[in-house]
Amino acid sequence: MKLSVMEIQRFALHDGPGIRTTVFLQGCPLRCPWCANPESQAGGKKLMYLQKRCIGCGRCAAVCPSGCITTEDGRPIFNRSLCIGCGKCVEACPAGALRLSSRDMETSEILSVLLRDRSYYRNTGGGITVSGGEPFLQGRGLKELLALCKAEGLHTAVETTGNTPTENIQACEPLIDLFLFDVKHPDPVRFKEVTGGDHALVLHNLTLLPPQKVVLRVPVIPGFNFDEQVLGDLFRLALSYGIRRVDLLPYHTLGRGKYEQLGRAYPYDEAKPLSRKDLESAKAMGEALGLVMG
Ligand code: SF4
Ligand code: SF4
Repeated sequence: MKLSVMEIQRFALHDGPGIRTTVFLQGCPLRCPWCANPESQAGGKKLMYLQKRCIGCGRCAAVCPSGCITTEDGRPIFNRSLCIGCGKCVEACPAGALRLSSRDMETSEILSVLLRDRSYYRNTGGGITVSGGEPFLQGRGLKELLALCKAEGLHTAVETTGNTPTENIQACEPLIDLFLFDVKHPDPVRFKEVTGGDHALVLHNLTLLPPQKVVLRVPVIPGFNFDEQVLGDLFRLALSYGIRRVDLLPYHTLGRGKYEQLGRAYPYDEAKPLSRKDLESAKAMGEALGLVMG
């Protein structure tokens, strides 16, 4: 079975314990304006254009079967709504200025990449992590990949928005050692308004998981949830579900360049990045409540 894969990142240090390899899957149901992987949003493959590499040869426009590329002064102009993700322009580009956001890979092919670093996993208590996008959107392929990993004795983690079909989570749960489960806001209305997500579904899915397998993850975003009351409510929510560990992820703008490559304006310009130091008082609050904070 195939999975639509955006990237496989080896030697990851922040996606679970030890040294890990992280597989990023395409597709996400949420529209968080601070997202660092905007190419994962709204379904299929996206065309990404690195303008500074383009030499203006026009070959991409000549090969596109959908008429989505025109040129102006030799430079391509994209009508992405017409793109069918065929990749012909990527192959034709002599400058490496074009790429597609994901490619389809057999689960066995992914496994062979994951197994390359098996000795590192063994020596550091690491393993593999599947992230996204939202991995459970590709539930059947994900289950097959996880089963292959477990058959090889690998530790498995999945990072999820929780905003995903319950049956997909339930089908994979026995194959997952650790859930890195995002809860971004305690208020369903605010969560919906900003991310488009379904808070009731997220919490329903959380109730079905063994709490000892869950780390709650909170991307801390100025203007959204970087607030003592809001974070305190999230910490109490974690405790009410029997979850002992919460990781706070400071807002960053490292994904900004990807918006340019997608021909999109950066949607969260009003916020400044946070440092680990900015989160110290929030962490102290969580620890005072009895949580292990990361
Ligand atoms: S991926 Fe295919 S359809 Fe899309 S712009 Fe390139 S050539 Fe055209
Ligand atoms: S083929 Fe590549 S280098 Fe040539 S115009 Fe298109 S994007 Fe630019």
